[in-house]
Amino acid sequence: MCALCPHRCRMAPGRTGRCGVRKNVGGRLLALTYGRPAAVQVDPIEKKPLYHFLPGTWTYSLGTVGCNLSCLFCQNYELSTGTLEVAAAASGPEIRPDQIVAAARRETCASVALTYNEPTVWAEYGRDIAVAAHGAGLKVVSVTNGFIQPVAAAALYEHVDAANVDLKAFDDGFYQRLCGGRLQPVLDTLTQLKRLGVWLEVTNLVIPGENDSPAGLSELCRWVVSELGPDTPLHFSAFFPTHRLTHRPVTPQATLTLAARLAAEAGLRHVHLGNLHLV
Ligand code: SF4
Repeated sequence: MCALCPHRCRMAPGRTGRCGVRKNVGGRLLALTYGRPAAVQVDPIEKKPLYHFLPGTWTYSLGTVGCNLSCLFCQNYELSTGTLEVAAAASGPEIRPDQIVAAARRETCASVALTYNEPTVWAEYGRDIAVAAHGAGLKVVSVTNGFIQPVAAAALYEHVDAANVDLKAFDDGFYQRLCGGRLQPVLDTLTQLKRLGVWLEVTNLVIPGENDSPAGLSELCRWVVSELGPDTPLHFSAFFPTHRLTHRPVTPQATLTLAARLAAEAGLRHVHLGNLHLV
């Protein structure tokens, strides 16, 4: 059984788990994307988005393929549903954690970002990169759906300084219907990372007709205030029709403005609106 995320997949020999990148090979569980980044780029840290952690710096960003959720609206579906061949073709020979860190230093980045696809499904590689980055004096950030088991989160986030966690909706039905996941494990991860001292920012992608009710948005905001604190930055992001959710429109500016007002009324002090160029 793989104990990384709440799916707790039991794979027969030769089979992969739901994420498609962790495999039972002769009774041993292998992380097939170890050392195989499919995307590497130097980004402003604000692009993660992290607005309150090392602002104005560059972060050496990488991701592999695969995901443990299956969001119909995934905005990075080429990677989340990508094949191992994509990763192998992108990286060629294996790229060791120390090589990632050396490249980050060459590019004068202040941090390394585990991003683009879900870091949980490549937790061993991410953790080794994080340890090497800390050894070189770099910070480490993660962009995650938060769908991870507590033991695995403790092992990975011990070496992570900041995270942007997607809180996709304050609605378990939404998680089950649109994402193939559950809400409670994500809430548990958020409070666990808070306890661990990881700097947290939260992102909510507002999808018209799916998770944009004022009551739902207010409930989400009130939970963030009570469990994570009023100084937790909350990013409301505009949806764009993509992947398998193409019948919903782009999020109107008025909806994002309303979300920001509801967040302020709930007591949140740092509310940011993202993807506005799409609106
Ligand atoms: S990380 Fe992948 S293999 Fe492991 S439990 Fe989650 S979906 Fe299953």
